[in-house]
Amino acid sequence: MRYVSTRNRNEEVSLSEALERGLASDSGLFIPKRVPKINWKDLPLTRLFSTDSLFVLAPFFAGDQLENQLKEICQRAFTFPVLVRTLGEQLGLLELFHGPTFAFKDFGARFLSESLSVISQRSTLKHRSILVATSGDTGGAVAAAFWRKRNFRVILLYPEGRVSQRQEKQLTCWGENVKSFAVNGTFDDCQRMVKEIFSQPELCALLGAASANSINIGRLLPQITYFALFSIYHYLDHQTMPTWIVPTGNMGHAVAAFYAQKMGFPIQEVVISTNENSILVDFLSGQSWQPRRALSTLANAMDVGHPSNWERLLALFDFDEEMVRKRVRACSVHDEEIRKTMKEIDQRYQIAICPHTATALFASQKMAIEGSAIAVATAHPAKFEVVDEILGRRVEVPLSFQDLLRRPSYVQRIEVCVDDLLDHLDL
Ligand SMILES: *Cc1c(COP(=O)(O)O)cnc(C)c1O
Repeated sequence: MRYVSTRNRNEEVSLSEALERGLASDSGLFIPKRVPKINWKDLPLTRLFSTDSLFVLAPFFAGDQLENQLKEICQRAFTFPVLVRTLGEQLGLLELFHGPTFAFKDFGARFLSESLSVISQRSTLKHRSILVATSGDTGGAVAAAFWRKRNFRVILLYPEGRVSQRQEKQLTCWGENVKSFAVNGTFDDCQRMVKEIFSQPELCALLGAASANSINIGRLLPQITYFALFSIYHYLDHQTMPTWIVPTGNMGHAVAAFYAQKMGFPIQEVVISTNENSILVDFLSGQSWQPRRALSTLANAMDVGHPSNWERLLALFDFDEEMVRKRVRACSVHDEEIRKTMKEIDQRYQIAICPHTATALFASQKMAIEGSAIAVATAHPAKFEVVDEILGRRVEVPLSFQDLLRRPSYVQRIEVCVDDLLDHLDL
């Protein structure tokens, strides 16, 4: 399989190259040259996620130097449980938050880390710096995935005072090869600093810079696996194809679900839920695509006003906007609706859910869905202090999360200035 840019189909690269480069040279996003079709009825499934994911990912790795290592990459990356909790006869909840940092970002971050490790063992470029600007779950997942990995250093930037206490702990509790910087600015400032570094080829070469933000195809591919596999498992158990309800902001998760559907896995429909940042819903209702400033909401990991994976979604529909409007349904959920849904679910099932997950469960009620639906639970409720406040009870914090919260913090404060950052790194 070869990979092309969303903006230019003529420049082809291998998967390994796409993983290393992150962004195409024309600033487009890498996508597979075609969507591979899978005859899932022939797959020798084991129902062990880390084993079965190999079958979903194999066509994307065909012909790449990583092809023969894919099995080990999956085994090493997916070391935690993935499961569907039954809420009702027609409603399930796919829990993707049992990884080391308690959000689905662990799938992408760990998969990317294992893939880059193999590439790096074979490359002359021995030392790499993974740059990540973060305001939420990505930074913690990337730090955890690369922590103590030889030949890698993580440079993590987050806006000081703008992340929750528990989030900040997950960004700073690592030390050693993880360099965490609290930037005296906003998330956009952090992102701009990372872009500035990537725009300087000499500096990039010096750092061995690679990006772990959600533009990297290495984060998207592993996210296809659970939509594919849990659709098959559902079909085998119930003889019906599920509809997926997917909370999304930057649209990485939504794109992964549409890939699984287009590959031929048994998926009835993919329905998207978002918070008040309603750019997609507005587009679907006939407006033009209008990027805007992000609003702050309870589901803060989805506070995105300019979703970068939009180009990938369009590409899946051959850049036909009318086709997107015909085939995609989405629901924008307000903070009040999020609160109400969290309380209802807690009362009805005695389950605490995070605000992002609440958007999907709200959508499951509001959007007439035929047949059975599976909503995606993207993060553990204990990640967000606000959940205790909304539910009026203390959500149990998993033991491994408590351990992490007790660790010391390793963080340096810097200004919005690349030179200031470089002064803090021993280059
Ligand atoms: C990142 C994140 C999302 C949104 O993911 P997309 O890549 O924008 O689809 C949703 N929920 C949680 C908890 C997240 O961390």
